[in-house]
Amino acid sequence: MSKRSITIWLVRDTCRVDDNPSLNLALETAGQSSTDCIALACLEPRRWEHHQFGLARTGCAWKCFRVNTLIRLRTELLKHGISLWIGAGEPSTLVGQIRERFTISAIITDLPLATEEAVENRRLQNLGVKVLTTQSDELFQAANINSALEQLPCSFTRFRKTIEKDESVVPAHPVKFSGLGSPVAQIWLDPPELYEARYFEKQCYEQPRWQQYLESGALSTYKKTRNALEGANMSSRLSAWLAHGCLSVRQVWHDTLEYEESYGVNESTYWLRFELLWREFFRWYSRLIGSILFTKTGKNGGYEVINSESVLFGNWCSGNTGVDIIDAAMRELRQTGWLSNRGRQLVASHLIYEYDLDWRLGAAWFESQLVDFDVASNWGNWAYIAGVGADPRGGRIFNLESQAERYDPKKTYRDRWLGPSPRIFEH
Ligand SMILES: Cc1cc2nc3c(=O)[nH]c(=O)nc-3n(C[C@H](O)[C@H](O)[C@H](O)COP(=O)(O)OP(=O)(O)OC[C@H]3O[C@@H](n4cnc5c(N)ncnc54)[C@H](O)[C@@H]3O)c2cc1C
Repeated sequence: MSKRSITIWLVRDTCRVDDNPSLNLALETAGQSSTDCIALACLEPRRWEHHQFGLARTGCAWKCFRVNTLIRLRTELLKHGISLWIGAGEPSTLVGQIRERFTISAIITDLPLATEEAVENRRLQNLGVKVLTTQSDELFQAANINSALEQLPCSFTRFRKTIEKDESVVPAHPVKFSGLGSPVAQIWLDPPELYEARYFEKQCYEQPRWQQYLESGALSTYKKTRNALEGANMSSRLSAWLAHGCLSVRQVWHDTLEYEESYGVNESTYWLRFELLWREFFRWYSRLIGSILFTKTGKNGGYEVINSESVLFGNWCSGNTGVDIIDAAMRELRQTGWLSNRGRQLVASHLIYEYDLDWRLGAAWFESQLVDFDVASNWGNWAYIAGVGADPRGGRIFNLESQAERYDPKKTYRDRWLGPSPRIFEH
């Protein structure tokens, strides 16, 4: 008996059914080849099992968010008759298992953001399967921003100015589901990780908060508040939703333009888009420099590590450095999986310039803790502060005393996190 043919949408970090070019292409391809479409999400060893610098690649905050995201995605897809298969393993291993039972007409997935996805795609191709990639989670189409891309890896400012002059953001497109598909039953049991990670549910943000943020009017004062260390609506808090791809960055961009039509334009309403351009910049930067993003000397060379004291690193991670602003921030990160942008900059500066430790240790710790971990933004920002990335000024050193005075004058933030018995999760 001949095997049933399927087209696979390989879900990476664009976990949504709205405005999703990869899913759209998978549906089109399935339509053209008259095959059923299934979605496949892999809990890859690189993220779910492996370690780097002795640290887990992802922590409970990220895992919990991802699991809940996948479960929501599964429900949404099923409404259109599409099954989401979730398996633990490398994409090529799971696809190998699928091939024993089905003929795979094509695999469609996002354009790789960093080296590991590119390696995984090559392994899939080596199986003899057709792999198509498409840009899914950027503001601009590569073909339309050649002049900005030609300047990479340059400073963010040149990239932004070129893009703002030449191009407008592509609109958000609904996904075209062609009627109700016929769900294909998953050929394995759901991995236990799905249930273990849900245990940490309380740590997750339950609902998308974008509409709530827009309705609050906080966008009109965003530029003035975004550097705050704490407080509701000081910044958008969209990072986890964007990093896991639950929310389309293009949708956010266009929503801010609509908001301006209703409530007026000012520097703040523009500034959120400015920050989204940082995200965009690091995505293209990561693609361009590839594995250099993860090297100690980065693209500039010349980075010197003076210290390799593991005690210092341990104190930094656990929030026991003795510098109260750093300890407060590190405890917030460890307990919640999130930290304000200012907090991230300060603790990075402390690890690199006060402790003289390898910046990659800090990046790896963030990777293991952040709910919004995003490979390009995390490693790109760390390299930037360490002076081995895209910063034309060669790194950023923050004066911790004056920063604490400026951003926490009444010590409310420090008191909150350095109180008598802060609740810490053990990993
Ligand atoms: C050392 C360091 C590590 C970081 N690691 C990550 C990471 O792993 N994942 C991540 O999403 N962001 C990272 N950032 C960027 C930034 O700190 C967070 O995106 C932001 O604090 C999240 O809060 P928010 O959503 O309220 O941001 P907002 O200020 O409301 O900004 C809106 C969105 O713009 C984007 N954005 C804002 N600032 C930056 C930036 N500097 N670089 C890239 N994108 C930006 C994010 O998608 C953010 O959600 C890092 C920054 C530093 C300094």
